[in-house]
Amino acid sequence: MALDLLIRNGSVVDGTGGPRFAADVGVRDGRIVEIGRIGGTARRTIDADGQIVAPGFIDGHTHMDAQVAWDALGSCSCWHGVTSVVMGNCGFALAPCKPDAREWYARCLEAVEDIPTEAMLAGIDWTWETFPEYLATVERLPKGINYGAYLGHSALRMYVMGERALSEAATEDDIRAMEAAVREALKAGAMGFSTSRASTHTTPDGSPVASRIAEWQEIDRLVGAMGALGAGIFQVGPDVSGGAAQRAFLDRLRQVALESGRPVMFGLISTRQGDKPNPWQYQTEFLDRSCAMGAVMWGQATTKSINAVFSLKSYLPFDVLPAWREVRSLPLEEQRRRLADPAVRARLIADEGTMKPRDNVFQGGAGATTDPRKPDYGNLFAMKGVGWDDDPTVETLSRERRKHPVEVMLDLSVENPDQLYVQPLVNESPDAVQGILSHPRTLATFSDSGAHVCQEMGSSLQTHMLSYWVRKRRAFTLEQAVKMLTADNADAWGMADRGRLKEGMAADIVVFDEDRVAPCMPTVEADLPGGARRLVQKAEGIAATVVNGVPTFENGRATGERPGKVIKGPLAKGA
Ligand SMILES: [Zn+2]
Repeated sequence: MALDLLIRNGSVVDGTGGPRFAADVGVRDGRIVEIGRIGGTARRTIDADGQIVAPGFIDGHTHMDAQVAWDALGSCSCWHGVTSVVMGNCGFALAPCKPDAREWYARCLEAVEDIPTEAMLAGIDWTWETFPEYLATVERLPKGINYGAYLGHSALRMYVMGERALSEAATEDDIRAMEAAVREALKAGAMGFSTSRASTHTTPDGSPVASRIAEWQEIDRLVGAMGALGAGIFQVGPDVSGGAAQRAFLDRLRQVALESGRPVMFGLISTRQGDKPNPWQYQTEFLDRSCAMGAVMWGQATTKSINAVFSLKSYLPFDVLPAWREVRSLPLEEQRRRLADPAVRARLIADEGTMKPRDNVFQGGAGATTDPRKPDYGNLFAMKGVGWDDDPTVETLSRERRKHPVEVMLDLSVENPDQLYVQPLVNESPDAVQGILSHPRTLATFSDSGAHVCQEMGSSLQTHMLSYWVRKRRAFTLEQAVKMLTADNADAWGMADRGRLKEGMAADIVVFDEDRVAPCMPTVEADLPGGARRLVQKAEGIAATVVNGVPTFENGRATGERPGKVIKGPLAKGA
């Protein structure tokens, strides 16, 4: 029988961590059927001579819940070799949701994740109320990549408790209704249940999101409901507001893991922010100790710093100031004219002097852009490229040019309105990131794709891994790095038929040039439904991406095919 797809002459890095080998890969009916020297023909052939052939990358921490409704490609992750994602992280989701609460959910998502409400209201056909109905909707939508989803605690709590979710402890009846919804979601195919205890996660009026109001005992019961079914992952956005708060959080989290028996995942980061932050080693040692006690736990890591990204076309750190607000509301060309005017500049620089001083409150991308402190110009980089170590700080430029840092930024942005500035929020030091990634209980994931659309850009974590950690720093071999992006994540999320190139596995494949693969510079584009802006980052050096046996990208160009599926947890029928 003829093959549907034949990828010839490539160097196969199969995701197991084993050494590469020369082979062809044959695909039929969405599955890999043969790996070796393959004669004969196929309906479609990709010549991978000189290229690496690897399993498609898996990203377990995204917020594509809204975007999946309008973006069939699955950007920006799809541009970085990603073929499967998990969404619904940190308790944020669009289901379950009653019809009259849709706009409120959208506003909450905007407040936390910077997904514009206008895009959600314009771009989503809300056909669901319950989680199973949402998943059925995702199943019907045309998709360029595969999606798994968690049941999100904040959504669930608002669905069951209404307004009380934002201020009250759950009653026994509330908890029983939520437990039933957890069981229902798992049976429909949820990958698990997610929540957030992160101080950065607030509603539009600045109060904690619904999941943060929950007592731990409520979390025990809901994760316990998964424990009783013997399925489901518990994902939590951690409390990193301070050292003591994080330690208390982790201790309580361990109790959940031990009592429920379910795998637990939390964001593992290094940070200088917050009140006496713990070193990252505290978290990896916590993982070691917890696992030694019998817990199943993973730290979700990323491969780079998580940055607030600023530009003239999106946010600048000064936008909230009165003199700035006046200029920043003008059309771009008018802004550039005004920003070049010395009198205007003098007022803008004076305004900067009135900014809130820096403090020990942990800020995420949302706070850094919408409630900024006076910038630390030694931790604000003028982006020149994607090499991480190559960008000058605004402080350095200010010293070199003998100009006020604000004036330096104005000069750069007037000259080039695409100039980006990055303020590392966490993972400031490459050495810390290398230490985190090297730990056996961390996962290279956590792009946050679909969220913070104009505030951060994490979607390039996979191509950054290959270009920076493998090629530039030689910290990991290509085989190790591919394993971290594929099989390790597939195993952690229980995606038994993905993450490895092996006969019988789903044919999710990425073909790339190991000498060229790299993220491109991000740009600001107004391409969301309703015309809202977002940061877009593509990649180079990826020759082809194949999802369930069908090429979705060839040489960076979308083929227009939509072979993506819903990845269901083990309790779903036909999963
Ligand atoms: Zn998240």
